[in-house]
Amino acid sequence: MWTIFGQDHLLKRLEISLRQQRQSHAYLLTGPPHVGKMALAINLAQAVNCLEGPGAPCGSCNQCTRIAQRHHADIRILFPGQGEEGRSPRTVIGINDIKETLRRVNLKPYEGSTSVVIIDGAESMSDDAANAMLKTLEEPPPQVMFILLTADEGAVLPTIRSRCQSMTLVPLAKDAMVEQLVTGHQATPEQAELLYRLSRGCLGWAIGALNDPQVLEQRQADLEKLQETLGAGLETRFTYANEVASLFGSDREAAKDLLALWLRWWRDLLLIKEGAEEFLHNSDQADALKGQASGLSTAEIMQFINRLMQTLSNLDSNVSPRLAMEVLMLNIPIEAGQV
Ligand SMILES: [Zn+2]
Repeated sequence: MWTIFGQDHLLKRLEISLRQQRQSHAYLLTGPPHVGKMALAINLAQAVNCLEGPGAPCGSCNQCTRIAQRHHADIRILFPGQGEEGRSPRTVIGINDIKETLRRVNLKPYEGSTSVVIIDGAESMSDDAANAMLKTLEEPPPQVMFILLTADEGAVLPTIRSRCQSMTLVPLAKDAMVEQLVTGHQATPEQAELLYRLSRGCLGWAIGALNDPQVLEQRQADLEKLQETLGAGLETRFTYANEVASLFGSDREAAKDLLALWLRWWRDLLLIKEGAEEFLHNSDQADALKGQASGLSTAEIMQFINRLMQTLSNLDSNVSPRLAMEVLMLNIPIEAGQV
């Protein structure tokens, strides 16, 4: 039984190859964060070890259960920040992590029939790590499946991509997600609709937010801080710039998520200007957005959206986060604070 939703286009294909035992030894699963890449990888690891196989995983045999509980000795999950090697260990999958994993999968599987290596954030492998991985994919050991996950397919070495079977996971459509959240996770229809918008169809994020109230509380706090900063003087804005810059140093993804929140806020302002309110991302904040939009021109909003996108791209090309954030803060249109 597959546990992921909305990816039937992939599951049909996978099920046929699994049943014929012609599955690939390496998959590259791509798609936005929280769309279900890890869930599919775990399902695949179950499928190739399931005692009821070949085919879709049964979900209830000893192998499937141990894999779901992440207790299975032959399933290894690598992600950035596990090792001590590399210049920025928190953001990189280093050569030593890869080498150690490859050494172990060269041995026979210990408790199942197939070893599975899941690399979450495959674009974060260091050059050395990626090259070691490439060599292994060129001559894969028997009884091993590699599953690489990435939200940024273009950042994975083309030579690695070409050795994997690529599968793209797509966000859920609105009706499918609302139904899933209401019937499967006891959300109210209103909650489900808001979560659909906030998650942009990525079910994993929506379920996470439903189960952990802190996710939405944090979003609320971030939005309040955003509005406070828009209305504040330079000193407060620079303090905020510093906070985001240090967050960037300690948790790059969280800092980028925060800027993505800014970007969606400003896109919402543009939607209000264009009279397209029904498409708002932050639909629960419509009043605050309308108040703010009334003081801004469309040109000002578009200019700041461009600034935000430029900042995100500068941060990716290793510009000083503090400098990038300070320049951004200097460019907030004055009227944005006058709600
Ligand atoms: Zn099973």
